[in-house]
Amino acid sequence: MSLPSFESIYGQPALWKSLKQGFENGSAVHAFLFVGDRGSGKRTAALVCAAAVLCEGADKPCGACKACKQVFGGVHPDLVRLGAEGASSIGIAAVRSLQETMRTKPYEAKCRAILLEDAQLLTQDAQNALLKTLEEPQEGNVLFLLCSQLEGLLPTVQSRCRLIRMGRLSKEEMRRGLADRGVPPERAEELFAASGGNLGRALEMHADPEYARMAERCVGLLEGLRAPEELPAALDSLKDMEKDRQLRRAFLEAMELLCQRLLRRSLGLPDCGGSALPRRDFTSERIHSMMDAIVWARKRLNANISWAAAVEPLLKRIIGG
Ligand SMILES: [Zn+2]
Repeated sequence: MSLPSFESIYGQPALWKSLKQGFENGSAVHAFLFVGDRGSGKRTAALVCAAAVLCEGADKPCGACKACKQVFGGVHPDLVRLGAEGASSIGIAAVRSLQETMRTKPYEAKCRAILLEDAQLLTQDAQNALLKTLEEPQEGNVLFLLCSQLEGLLPTVQSRCRLIRMGRLSKEEMRRGLADRGVPPERAEELFAASGGNLGRALEMHADPEYARMAERCVGLLEGLRAPEELPAALDSLKDMEKDRQLRRAFLEAMELLCQRLLRRSLGLPDCGGSALPRRDFTSERIHSMMDAIVWARKRLNANISWAAAVEPLLKRIIGG
């Protein structure tokens, strides 16, 4: 497969075309903020932009020059990448050390490209420190912030970056993306529906035989779990996930996708079709509170709390009342 380029990003072709022009004629801004769910392609898109910053060719990123190959091979000396690396936050020390780096000259290219992942995990202090860099851009540095949600990022940080929202793919774009990766076309419809137009998730689901079973289990809970006295049995039914990180992740993911589809239904928006939704009606407030509980559970699992304690609030919100 050839190296990624602006043309190979699925969805929003006009956006990528205008960004490409900006990098080619030197009019691009110094800070970008990519927002999108896990699997939405924000990292790939940001990497293509970083390659465009560092590329030595005319058609940026050309995919043929040394710089492009180094970027996509993960070894370009002027591509700086940092993120939370599994920690629950990114502190001020990391930002200070980045600012130190930004004051130095790039090694090989005219410019340095910086990918800061998990930006939603920057502490308030770290964001305030970063703000200075965003307000007075250090010549020769282009910053790409990546985050899964804008909540948690100071409005002042957001407003000083060019915001790039990774959209959901249309059915047709998804079909193309899956076909390009060798997924049989007969699976496209189902994966499109189940992933909510998120290609990364669709590919994960395709690769994971556990997924279909997991979605079924989640529908079972959403449909059946209605009374507080059923809580212990429900917790017990999730015991197999206790020691299995993969299963826990698949469970929370499947639950989140079902909640997103339930929310669309509660707002009277069309469903993407496909796998069955529970018939039970949830108010949008309740669905939002369930989605909050999913985010909370993920955070707690990162902090090494027990699976039962992490998932219990979610089950309670499914019960409601
Ligand atoms: Zn190049």
